[in-house]
Amino acid sequence: MKLALDLNAYFASCEQQERPELRGLPIAVAPLMAETTCCIAASYAAKKFGVKTGTQVAEARRLCPGIEIVEARPPLYVHYHDRIKACVDRVVPIEAATSIDEFICDLPAGHKTPEKAVALAKTLKQAMAREVGEVMTCSIGIAPNAWLAKVASDIQKPDGLVLIEPHDLPHILHGLELRDLSGIGPNMEQRLNRARIFTVQQLCAASKLELRRAWGGVEGEIMFERLRGAPVPLTVSECASIGHSHVLPPVKRNDVDAHSIIHRMMQKAAMRLRRLDLVTSHMQVAVRFIGKQGRGHWDVDARFNHTDDTIELTHHLNALWADYPGCNTSQAPMHVGVVLSGLIESRHQTVPLFEAGRPHAPLMKAMDKLNLRFGKSTLYFGAAHKGRDHAPMRIAFTRIPDVEVE
Ligand SMILES: [Mg+2]
Repeated sequence: MKLALDLNAYFASCEQQERPELRGLPIAVAPLMAETTCCIAASYAAKKFGVKTGTQVAEARRLCPGIEIVEARPPLYVHYHDRIKACVDRVVPIEAATSIDEFICDLPAGHKTPEKAVALAKTLKQAMAREVGEVMTCSIGIAPNAWLAKVASDIQKPDGLVLIEPHDLPHILHGLELRDLSGIGPNMEQRLNRARIFTVQQLCAASKLELRRAWGGVEGEIMFERLRGAPVPLTVSECASIGHSHVLPPVKRNDVDAHSIIHRMMQKAAMRLRRLDLVTSHMQVAVRFIGKQGRGHWDVDARFNHTDDTIELTHHLNALWADYPGCNTSQAPMHVGVVLSGLIESRHQTVPLFEAGRPHAPLMKAMDKLNLRFGKSTLYFGAAHKGRDHAPMRIAFTRIPDVEVE
């Protein structure tokens, strides 16, 4: 049995906890004080007027006259995250922090019966109110696996407590929309619709093979199992990473090919990221060398605001590559790899906190569509196009990539 804990209106609650004069009032948190920016959180009093995450500030004022707009304080939210984590962990061991305001816990052996689990959840809520703050309410879901626990934590808000037992499946899910399910974002919803799955009931009735096809891989089989309460562990969207690695054939053991192949692998990983409606905040690049003096390696990584944008990721990759030692007479690259981690679902993205929107989103979408239809190499960014004219490396590494059609 797993327990998922999700804070209600997290950023807004942090502000109300810090500033008692805002409690109970309709407030929204915005990344900066501008009418054109979007709210990243709304208090429950503001939600009643239809203000939600993504509502433009000007629109929020129209929907809810008198709403207080508060400028976001990201360090404060990280501080509360750490306090919540410590508080939860004292009551029930945390298995994973799946976003800034979501935690998955493994119920201890003595608390796996429904009564004991619910009692523990209540203890947890009391501890949160006492140790973190009375405004910091949370919704808790308890279920046979982590994914169902997350779904359960979304059913009742605010201050919810929902238990899903094996005999509740699948009908307890039937009232939900596809998009209510963790891991189904707008892209995945479209793919499911193309597979003639429009409701959660249809999703639950679909065969393992149908889901495998809809997801285009093992994620669909995992969904099949999760819907049925199988104890499937957390996967890619919760805590792992997406990565590719490649052993270079002898003819490609040079810097130009290594660089180009890393770019191609990064672009593939980014496409997979978007298909799963995830965003990444961490890139690791590794090159293994083979040479006269044995084996060497070059491992670097970069952290950045969450993104699924290939162009942004290209900039991060190029910045890392600027320090690449390069091959020389004693070593040549033999094995290359790139890993994207720090993954969260794109709907939990905190990017709007720090940056203005996602200017390349339509371009990314169009690229993915073409690549899905005509094959993975239909459209890609120039850096991955192994020196058509063997351009000098320095230029290839630093140029701003543009779209090339092969
Ligand atoms: Mg939340």
